[in-house]
Amino acid sequence: MSGKVYIVGGGPGDPGLITVKGLKVLRQADVVLYDRLISPELLREIRNGAELIYVGKERGEAEIQEGINALLLKKARMGLTVVRLKGGDPYVFGRGEEECLFLIERGVECEVIPGVTSAIAGPAYAGIPVTSRWYSSGFSVVTGQRADGSAMDLDYIPKKGTVVLLMSVSRVEEVAENLMKVRSERTPVAVIEKATTEGQRVLTCTLRELAKTVREHNVTSPALIVVGEVVELRNKLWKFK
Ligand code: SAH
Repeated sequence: MSGKVYIVGGGPGDPGLITVKGLKVLRQADVVLYDRLISPELLREIRNGAELIYVGKERGEAEIQEGINALLLKKARMGLTVVRLKGGDPYVFGRGEEECLFLIERGVECEVIPGVTSAIAGPAYAGIPVTSRWYSSGFSVVTGQRADGSAMDLDYIPKKGTVVLLMSVSRVEEVAENLMKVRSERTPVAVIEKATTEGQRVLTCTLRELAKTVREHNVTSPALIVVGEVVELRNKLWKFK
């Protein structure tokens, strides 16, 4: 009989941010396939004798994704309990749906265990709520890069509310330029690097200064950008060092 694959959200970085359910299956797994952004502390939770396979990849590498799919299928068909551990939430730019679909289409049982996404927890750890009764009645999570490498789709940038941008730092000039077509250049912005980890760094500026700030401070991946008035609340809510 075929085993089962759990696609588990590992949370944004702080190992304490995996769910109770996610941790439970991680501890039961026979095989764990994990991504680039997974905390080493979480990996220590696997049981003795379980197999740990690193499958980190740069975005868009189709062959590697095919290899991961094939490996998940192979391990499940060996009757094993497989955990596919992903950063944040598997369904927020995590390609969890592709892996799950691939398995289901081949008759393998697959369950997705949601995770705490960096898009919400990252801002929270920087003292920024994504919504606020005073500042914002909604938020959008948008990628600055599309799978085919083409320019950002402006239709995804709403006129109001908070915008959280993932995968946007390497193309920050283009992203900032696009945002300024929809939002005032005076809009407050925060850049959060390595959110929820020991190495978390937060920079704040206005939309106009965004690209310059990212380049001057040498911000590297993983990092996310928060755009909107909610960034102002950081001054009052930020309680970390
Ligand atoms: N599924 C993930 C997102 C995957 S896309 C989630 O729900 O969080 C990868 C992008 O997420 C990175 O380019 C970066 O923009 C963002 N990201 C993930 N972890 C991050 C972290 N710890 N700090 C800042 N940004 C992070």
